[in-house]
Amino acid sequence: MPTVTNALSVPAAGAPFEAVRIERRDLRDDDVRIDIAYAGICHSDIHTVRDEWGAAHYPIVTGHEIAGTVSAVGEGVTAIAVGDRVGVGCLVDSCGECGPCKDGQEMFCTKPAVGTYNSRDYHGEWTAGGYSQQIVVTERMVVRIPDALSLDVAAPLLCAGITTYSPLKRWGAGPGVKVAVVGVGGLGHMGVKIAAALGAQVTTISRTDAKAADAMALGATSHLATSDPGAVVAARGSFDLILNTVSAPLDMEAYLRMLRPNGALVNVGLPSEPYVLHPFSVIGGNKVFTGSQIGGIAQTQEMLDFCAAHGIGATVEVLDASDTAAVDAAYDRVVAGDVRYRVVIDTATIPG
Ligand code: NAP
Ligand code: ZN
Repeated sequence: MPTVTNALSVPAAGAPFEAVRIERRDLRDDDVRIDIAYAGICHSDIHTVRDEWGAAHYPIVTGHEIAGTVSAVGEGVTAIAVGDRVGVGCLVDSCGECGPCKDGQEMFCTKPAVGTYNSRDYHGEWTAGGYSQQIVVTERMVVRIPDALSLDVAAPLLCAGITTYSPLKRWGAGPGVKVAVVGVGGLGHMGVKIAAALGAQVTTISRTDAKAADAMALGATSHLATSDPGAVVAARGSFDLILNTVSAPLDMEAYLRMLRPNGALVNVGLPSEPYVLHPFSVIGGNKVFTGSQIGGIAQTQEMLDFCAAHGIGATVEVLDASDTAAVDAAYDRVVAGDVRYRVVIDTATIPG
C-alpha cells in the first residue's frame, strides 16, 4: 500500500498554502523512503508556485531542499540503510545511461531528468516535493548528510549549497581570486560561505548596507551597496568572478563592467524577465557571461562533505508550519529580501 503523508500544497497560482494528505508510492526495488525533518524554501519554489516561469501544474507541493532520515528501503537498495541521514535536492530521477548522466551531470539528462516537484516522473505521475513529512526517491538521487551537519542547516545545501558550490569550483574561486557575490539571500549567503572557505577574497553586492555586518560574519571582506552609485563606479574592473544570485532582473552591463579583463560573470538567478546585454559589454575585456544549473549528484555529495569539513551549514530560520499562513508570510518575506538567510520548514509541524 502507498503511504499517506501530511503536506503543504498550493491549489492554484496566487492561492495560499493548504494542509493536504498526499500518497507516496510503494517502494520499488531501488527506492528509499525518507522521513523528512526539514525542507528549505528556495526562491525557485516561489517562482513556481506563483507561476512566474509558466508551466506550473497545480496542485503543487514544492520543496527541493530536503533533509531527513531513511525509514525504509527497497529490496535492491544496497548503499543506503534505514536510519541513515540523507538529503534530496532538485532531482528525483534521471535515466542514468545518457552522456550527461554518465558524466555526473544528471540535471542535463537527455530523457530528461525528473524534478523533485512539478515534473512528470517516468511512470507518468506528477512529482510532489519536500514540504511534506515523507518522500520516496530512487536511491541514486539520495546523498548522505555528514554527521557534522545538523539536518536544519543541511537542508538548504541541497539546492542553495550546490548551486553556488558548482560554479565557484568550475570558475576557479580560490586563493588570490577576487569573487563578488550579488544578492545576499539563500543562494548568496551560501556563495559567500563557500567562496571564503575555498580561500577566495569575497565582496558582497547588495541593494543596501543593511546586510553589511552579516556579510562580514559570513566570510566577506568587503560589501558594496548598489544604492551608492559612487561605489558601483569605483568597483569597475575589480573582480575575477561575479556570481549573480538575484531573483529579479538586473542591469547586467553594470555588473560586467565590474569584471577584470577575462573575468567571468556566472548567472544563477532566474527572474522571469530577460536581461539586456549589448555585445560590447563582453567583447571589451574578453569577458564571459555564463550560467550554471544546480549540480550533479556526485558533486552534491562532494559539496556536503566540503561543507562538513569546513563547518559550513546554512544560516536558517526554522518555520513552524502548523498555521499554514506562516508559509505564505515566509514567501512574502523571501521576496522582500528580509530572511536571514534561509527559511526551513520544520516538517513535523505540517498539519494533517
Ligand atoms: P532569495 O533568498 O530571495 O535571494 C535573492 C536575493 O536577491 C535577495 O536576498 C536580495 O539580496 C536580492 N534581490 C531580490 N530582489 C531584488 C531586486 N529587485 N533587485 C536587486 N536585488 C534583489 O532567493 P534564492 O533562493 O537565493 O534564489 C535566487 C535566484 O536563484 C532565484 O531566481 C532562484 O529561482 C534562482 N535559483 C537558480 C538555481 C540554478 O540552478 N541556477 C537554483 C536555485 C535557485 P539583497 O537583499 O542582498 O539585495
Ligand atoms: Zn532551489
